[in-house]
Amino acid sequence: MKIAKAESIWIRTPVSHDGPPSGFGGTIWKDVSTLLIRIETQEGLVGWGEAFGHNAIPATKAAFDHQIAPLLIGRDAGAISPLMTELQKVCHTFGRYGQTMFAFSGLDTALWDLAGKAAGLPLYRLIGGAARTHVPAYASLLRYGDPQVVADLCAKAVSQGYSAVKLHERTAAAVTAARDGGGDVFDLMVDVNCPWTVAEAEQMAWAFEPNDLFWLEEPVWPPENFNGLAELRGNAPMPIAAGENASTIWEFAQMLRTGAVDFAQPSVAKVGGVTEMMKILRLCESHNVGFAPHSPYYGPGFLATLHVVAQTDNPIEHLYCRLDAPLYDVFPPKDGAFQLPTGPGLGLEPNPDVIRDYQVKG
Ligand SMILES: [Mg+2]
Repeated sequence: MKIAKAESIWIRTPVSHDGPPSGFGGTIWKDVSTLLIRIETQEGLVGWGEAFGHNAIPATKAAFDHQIAPLLIGRDAGAISPLMTELQKVCHTFGRYGQTMFAFSGLDTALWDLAGKAAGLPLYRLIGGAARTHVPAYASLLRYGDPQVVADLCAKAVSQGYSAVKLHERTAAAVTAARDGGGDVFDLMVDVNCPWTVAEAEQMAWAFEPNDLFWLEEPVWPPENFNGLAELRGNAPMPIAAGENASTIWEFAQMLRTGAVDFAQPSVAKVGGVTEMMKILRLCESHNVGFAPHSPYYGPGFLATLHVVAQTDNPIEHLYCRLDAPLYDVFPPKDGAFQLPTGPGLGLEPNPDVIRDYQVKG
């Protein structure tokens, strides 16, 4: 099963949500970009992956097209782990996090999709099996900055069947509004995206404490300050989560050795793909640390995460937005849960009409 063709495809589809204008990464979202990695074998099998992300996609696309794709032609698509290790060694000088690893992540996921299609089995069957047929989702809200909006959207998400909601707010007023809006019947997480010193984070953790958080996510700057997270974890009243900005099992090993987190959050489109996700899941099991992947994705990265997390008892993150033209007909979740696809590989094929109509050229 040799690789005949390797390409990246950037699609950008309009997105909407019920709050005021919001976004991540320094931009307000009017659309959501997905960088698809498409790998085709000499036999004509096609595998799909997803590489992170947002307004950095042109850089990730350049890394894949010019740096990685030329290394793939003629290689054995079924020798996933040795190929990924070899490529990581060849390209290590270009950075162990960032565009190169994002591109590798998409490649690795596409190779796993291919492996499943070659075997005629869904991905979850190749990586250890699933504990369940449906995976509960948590609604991952954007940052709105308005406590009333937060209260209203928490109430709405709970009424739609979500049993957990995650905020991206940074104030005690907004967190209190969320609990008031949704009531005591849901798990509430707060993700603040790395703003604070350890002392500031401890102060805010106690300010959030009355609202019974399931976890506090990325409270400390910078994300690789594992000693700071461990110090906070010793003093904060709720569990600590982090990891969407960590790369490969090596950085997670350091994170867990440091005692930095209660929940590790690898991101399949950043961390090195399904291969690294599975290594990190086993690592978490050996440290009694929760495994709660970062997955604000709508493409193959979402499906890959679904297959991995299906063998745990944890929920999957679903960004609480609506796409006009989704690649897969799985959004939004029904009764707060996603059905695990049972087709070969990732289990579903991206909609070719969406790729044709929303592809960004150039
Ligand atoms: Mg996060």
